Amino acid sequence: MSLADARYWVFDMDGTLTLAVHDFPAIKRALAIPQEDDILHHLAALPSDEAAGKRAWLLEHERELAYAATPAPGARELLHALRERGCTLGVLTRNAHELALVTLQAVGLGDCFASEDILGRDEAPPKPDPGGLLHLARKWDVSPSELVMVGDYRFDLECAKAAGARGVLVNLPENLWPELTDLHAQDCGQLLRLLD
Ligand SMILES: [Mg+2]
Repeated sequence: MSLADARYWVFDMDGTLTLAVHDFPAIKRALAIPQEDDILHHLAALPSDEAAGKRAWLLEHERELAYAATPAPGARELLHALRERGCTLGVLTRNAHELALVTLQAVGLGDCFASEDILGRDEAPPKPDPGGLLHLARKWDVSPSELVMVGDYRFDLECAKAAGARGVLVNLPENLWPELTDLHAQDCGQLLRLLD
């Protein structure tokens, strides 16, 4: 099946539907997390009181980013076009669900997703774990191979591959992970044109 015929689309949020604003090295410095560590995995391994304090800091930091979010080029046009075609849309993000709602509202995409189809870090294991995609496939009652995952990072593509879904890379000038990618588009606007 060609991507143009795909009916089930799952999007990463930060850096995919919005312009990337997270400064991950700075977040790691602020939380005393080694630069080579994964933030969510690092927090998960901490004693619970220390983890709770750092999670709260992260949530507040990301809340400020959420209210100031700006849409990525072509994101609104792509999502609205997919909606008009009758596609089912979801979000799989390592951000928090409540902040995903704030962010999507801020960039004019609040009406594109059912709230329960927006999976954050408390609803699904963090990508590249495929659990979030598998959950949506079950919920939508389709095979994971019917899903397309769109993202701007290796984790999004690895998640797609592990789930048996297809992976689309956007918002990077070069495709750094061709072995993980079914399609590479400069941004969501070009992706929409490639689907037409
Ligand atoms: Mg991203």
